[in-house]
Amino acid sequence: QAPQPKKPAWIRVKAPTSAGYRATRDIIRENRLTTVCEEAGCPNVGECWAQGHATMMIMGEICTRGCTFCNVATGRPDALDAFEPGRVADAVARLGLSHVVITSVDRDDLDDGGAAHFAQTIRAIRHRAPDTTIEILTPDFLRCGPDALETVVAARPDVFNHNLETVPGLYPGVRPGARYFHSLRLLQRVKELDPSMFTKSGLMVGLGEERAQVGQVMDDMRSAGVDFLTIGQYLQPTPKHHAVARFVTPEEFAAYEKAAWGKGFLMVSSSPLTRSSYHAGEDFARMRAA
Ligand code: SF4
Ligand code: SF4
Repeated sequence: QAPQPKKPAWIRVKAPTSAGYRATRDIIRENRLTTVCEEAGCPNVGECWAQGHATMMIMGEICTRGCTFCNVATGRPDALDAFEPGRVADAVARLGLSHVVITSVDRDDLDDGGAAHFAQTIRAIRHRAPDTTIEILTPDFLRCGPDALETVVAARPDVFNHNLETVPGLYPGVRPGARYFHSLRLLQRVKELDPSMFTKSGLMVGLGEERAQVGQVMDDMRSAGVDFLTIGQYLQPTPKHHAVARFVTPEEFAAYEKAAWGKGFLMVSSSPLTRSSYHAGEDFARMRAA
């Protein structure tokens, strides 16, 4: 593998040490929950957890896919835990979250891709923490019938997020088990099923994409009715993962942001450390107040 470009100063983050970080960590441990913050080795964990913001990952720690950018283990997952929705809801209530992001591994082993479990988790949170707004970040339900997506949308999350992750030309090397146009169509279908639901998608950059290709993906998202966009720098979790092609500069992120506002997104976050769940609650609250 080619030598990796050196991390620029704008990527460095502080080690997590605050009391707020430890309090969040304790609630996550006591409720035996998995977070994407830890699984993905997210650079924002110190900042987010200090404020109680953790993105919970449901349906286990083993994924049936093997995206080359992702640090989650691939293999045969365990059976679903029927008590998990209740534990997630309890943690959301104890953390006192105004907004929560729930994501999952991909479950190609289940007929419904885990759609019913997602819906149960949304309903459990609504019951325990009725004032918390709920954002879900879902897999693509590629091998399921249309009922799977309908089940999740019927549970009425506030924000439905599904990340396109990268430009279509890089799918074979980055998201080999996924299909770009299937994911795009999924986002469009959510809007068709419930036009009042906000939809959101995100991209990682620095994987080898061209700027014009990113602009095309933004256009594709807007034509599928996507409301919110996140763009962040791809970071290689281990040397075995997809290489970083380059570090996109803060000025380029600002240019992407400007272009995205011009294309009509309702919320845009584009910066080196943006992740789909980074500041999701603040951004959502600000957008609703506007
Ligand atoms: Fe977790 Fe998202 Fe914050 Fe990263 S940006 S620490 S994944 S909540
Ligand atoms: Fe990681 Fe999601 Fe890909 Fe699974 S489907 S390998 S959890 S990015």
